[in-house]
Amino acid sequence: MKKRIFALLILSNYNVFLKSVISNMLRKKTLFNFFIFFLTCFFSQAQERNLKGVSKMRLKAIINEIDHKNDSLLKKIEEYKSLNKELRDSINNLTKTDSLSLIFMGDIMGHDGQIKSAFNEKTNKYNYEPVFAEVKNLISNVDFAIANLEVTLAGPPYKGYPKFSSPKELVIACKNNGIDVLVTSNNHTCDRGKKGVIRTLDILDSLNIKHTGSFRNSNEFKTNNLLVLEKNNIKIGLLNYTFSTNGMPIPYPTIVNKIDTTSMLKDIQKSKKQDIDKLIVFIHWGPEYKSHPSNSQKKIANFLFRNGVDIIIGAHPHVLQKMEYFENCGSENGQLIAYSLGNYVSNQRTRKRDGGAMIEILLTKNQEKTKISDFGYHLTWVQKPIINGKEVFKILPCKEYEKNNFNGLSLKEKNAMKLFIEDSRKLFQKENQKVTEK
Ligand SMILES: [Zn+2]
Repeated sequence: MKKRIFALLILSNYNVFLKSVISNMLRKKTLFNFFIFFLTCFFSQAQERNLKGVSKMRLKAIINEIDHKNDSLLKKIEEYKSLNKELRDSINNLTKTDSLSLIFMGDIMGHDGQIKSAFNEKTNKYNYEPVFAEVKNLISNVDFAIANLEVTLAGPPYKGYPKFSSPKELVIACKNNGIDVLVTSNNHTCDRGKKGVIRTLDILDSLNIKHTGSFRNSNEFKTNNLLVLEKNNIKIGLLNYTFSTNGMPIPYPTIVNKIDTTSMLKDIQKSKKQDIDKLIVFIHWGPEYKSHPSNSQKKIANFLFRNGVDIIIGAHPHVLQKMEYFENCGSENGQLIAYSLGNYVSNQRTRKRDGGAMIEILLTKNQEKTKISDFGYHLTWVQKPIINGKEVFKILPCKEYEKNNFNGLSLKEKNAMKLFIEDSRKLFQKENQKVTEK
């Protein structure tokens, strides 16, 4: 019996042994068994103390080991995290697409009828806001809206044809309704001499309206000839030229950009050295009232495209001319031309001259390549209703009016707008290359 208990004490674990002793003790209740019980307690406590000592040391070692492993694991996690970020960034760069939207309009004229219409006899002030109110949504939805200002802001007397000078409220309304840039080189730039050229630029600058085409002097020309517009990581450069200044001399020291292949080539080559994604030329050219571009226009367009211009926007004929997109030309990312956008606003009321077109263009940039991704035209027609006994000029978006069954127009106006839409679509459907209506 004794041998068995001692064997158990040595060989078995404490719990099994204790259970056996207690049950044995309860069964037999002998003094010897009590003795064995105390002995067991003594040994077990000693064993426990011993185990505790061993456990602490081992535990410390294990904790240190875990700490170490933990540190290297955290390090690895950080490494993976940064690698992951680098990977994500490079994937983002590969797949990221930036975009920039543009809208171009034709000629903003300032005929006598328009000046008279903008004048309020009661307040003695001019107000052109209603002119642009109905196209505001279209033009303020893009990143840059760009139009040709075909008047000077030379101060009074305010006059229309042939020597234009309009009140500054005309360009205030342009700005308020979403036009960001006005090009200033056209056949009326020098209508009011040096004062007209400079005062126009002073007013545009005071209103923070960007411009190019005419300059106060050669220093300004050097720095501002290429107008750079930037948004969403895309930079475009804009140049502007005119075929003529209607026989008016360009007053010294001002500069008005004229169509001349030598100087245009110089400008293009200089622009191309700049960090720009697309080069655009807004050009004032072509025979008036002709719906088809002349050979001279085509020759100049070819010259510009051949030398690296990506987009050409034309105006001056007072009527529309075709638009073309050439997919794999130039820089392999396409070339686009609108030969004439017609009248954006004027007092010309005869067939085809009473409206114009806006061309909307979307540029996208991916992996340093900038593409002409989307484009299309919007037709606009100028309404001239009589409100409170007074003529009012309003540029109307044709498609919207067409959708609403020409609601709000008189029968005469409805027919005139319908005819303009019909003529314009007929021309564009026949002659446009890939440029369709928006
Ligand atoms: Zn013109």
